[in-house]
Amino acid sequence: MQILVTGGLGFIGSHTVVELIHRGYQPVIIDNLSNSNIEVLQGIKNIVGEIDLPFEQIDLKDKLAVTNFFNTYTDIKGVIHFAASKAVGESVQNPLMYYDNNLTSLIYILQNIVSKKDMKFIFSSSCTVYGQAEVMPITEISPRQKPVSPYGNTKTIAEDIINDTAMATDLQAILLRYFNPIGAHSSAEIGELPLGVPQNLVPFITQTAIGIREELSVFGNDYPTPDGTCVRDYIHVMDLAEAHVVALERLLNKKVSQKVEVFNVGTGKGTSVLEIIQTFEKITGQKLNYKYAARREGDTAIAYADTTKVNETLGWKATRTLEEALSSAWNWQENQKQHTI
Ligand code: NAD
Repeated sequence: MQILVTGGLGFIGSHTVVELIHRGYQPVIIDNLSNSNIEVLQGIKNIVGEIDLPFEQIDLKDKLAVTNFFNTYTDIKGVIHFAASKAVGESVQNPLMYYDNNLTSLIYILQNIVSKKDMKFIFSSSCTVYGQAEVMPITEISPRQKPVSPYGNTKTIAEDIINDTAMATDLQAILLRYFNPIGAHSSAEIGELPLGVPQNLVPFITQTAIGIREELSVFGNDYPTPDGTCVRDYIHVMDLAEAHVVALERLLNKKVSQKVEVFNVGTGKGTSVLEIIQTFEKITGQKLNYKYAARREGDTAIAYADTTKVNETLGWKATRTLEEALSSAWNWQENQKQHTI
């Protein structure tokens, strides 16, 4: 069964492509390589074997190209839509670029699939839609609040676009609100490959440990948390990839109870920045050069998921440990170094 994976050469998309293939699906990848590298395609093949893995370098803002794609690939039964720009800071600097890329691409995809019978749609949403949530853990019925950045706002608006479209058409969709994906495939063939300065903690840690970055800044050590640093819900990217396939199967097997279902995807456990650093140092034997810096605007003190709904309804639970996630990220970073020497 053919499944379109947009943004399939990106961090989460590439791991999901591997998982789809393992479960017997035939992914077709669209990516414009704006935040990824064509070498990821070979990394995926190194894991799954030299199979036929269609890849189309298409910018989803190109309406004609998107329509031509769906006219060519007529057997597609589902879409997992990862493609988006995701740097929070950049979105504050350049909001129009974010609204354009993240929403135009979504609209063009939806325009092409709503007329197709039984098409299934999975969307990469984010815990940013909860804004500065006051009650922990965050459940799916926690109120959505104004996100702290234009990036976050694109996720809230995208959810509304999908909801409205599903109400007016036959579209069935699942919105997955991810918490903090980290780690890499155990083969170290694919992982998180940020272009430029990493925006996320773990790639910054691994790049500092390997010597690409001089020093890691920990933003704030005076938060009302046990050690003063921010607490987040870090989920292994392969657990997240598996959640996508389970969600897709819920749609394909017609198990959904609403036209649009929403699930938090996290571990349900909060971990502080300092705990991440200490665990990384313990399992890799690397000493990290880090310093405390001022709080970063827009960061909340604590955010972690209530995973009851995803555990019970999807029958999915994160199984990998923080240690596994950090050691896979480190193996991936070391593998990258070997490629560049
Ligand atoms: P990523 O940047 O690694 O992957 C996104 C991919 O989409 C990239 O390969 C990029 O080249 C591609 N892309 C972007 N715009 C495109 C366009 N117009 N046409 C075609 N391809 C395009 O990001 P990721 O971490 O894998 O995130 C995937 C999705 O999950 C995104 O929608 C992101 O907002 C969401 N998300 C990510 C996180 C996280 O922390 N990584 C958390 C919550 C939600």
